[in-house]
Amino acid sequence: MTQLMNENGIRCDGRRVDQLRNISIKVGVLKNADGSAYIEFGKNKILAGVFGPRDVHPKHMANQDSGILRCRYHMSPFSVTERKNPAPSRREIEISKVIKEALLPAVILKDFPRTVVDVFIEVLQADGGTRCAALDAASIALVDAGIPMRDLVSACAAGKVADQIVLDINNEEDQEGQADMPIAYMPNLGKITLMQLDGILSPSEYKKCVQTGINGCKLVYEMQRKALMDKYFTNEIQ
Ligand code: UDP
Repeated sequence: MTQLMNENGIRCDGRRVDQLRNISIKVGVLKNADGSAYIEFGKNKILAGVFGPRDVHPKHMANQDSGILRCRYHMSPFSVTERKNPAPSRREIEISKVIKEALLPAVILKDFPRTVVDVFIEVLQADGGTRCAALDAASIALVDAGIPMRDLVSACAAGKVADQIVLDINNEEDQEGQADMPIAYMPNLGKITLMQLDGILSPSEYKKCVQTGINGCKLVYEMQRKALMDKYFTNEIQ
């Protein structure tokens, strides 16, 4: 067993309980996608590419009154220590679904009837918290594709490690900690769009965990904004 926290409250990767991992985000990294983003969230490395709005195939999936959103979350075989089978796993199907549902409240697709917006997510390297980091990149890629949005979606996990509520669970903490709670949040609208919980928390720990996660999302939001500003509000057009 790894010691997840030392006597000074410092975590196994050197962070304090309320500290995020280092995050860097780059917007517009793929020339063939309508919108894209690359995120490094600690040791996670994730690409998101958006296509659309474009015609829906198969056609029977089309909605006459609105565009639809589709998401595919995929982990590369080399993204984890044990080679991952490239075929979609149950876990990837579940994560694709929750990512789609976390983005849906933010996107405005009513002006694009009979079309689809596709979000493709490729996890190149995973280290715990990939669904949150993937959501952060996907949300930025949607903006980059020019999809109208009510708000950005910012995501970050909180959890319980060594009996303490901590921000942004890494892989070791995810495997050996007591609880993991991924949260996605629309910071300007103040609405949660994803909340999952793996583990057991008391009612007061639960409240603290939600608040810690939301605080983390607000920090992530500032970095997402900065990444967009860097692309769209500098003189250097890419
Ligand atoms: N993981 C792995 N192999 C897999 C799936 C996941 O090693 O086939 C690792 C990976 O580092 C991932 C972590 O387990 O980030 C936690 O996975 P979880 O299902 O909790 O989702 P996540 O925290 O990445 O959103």
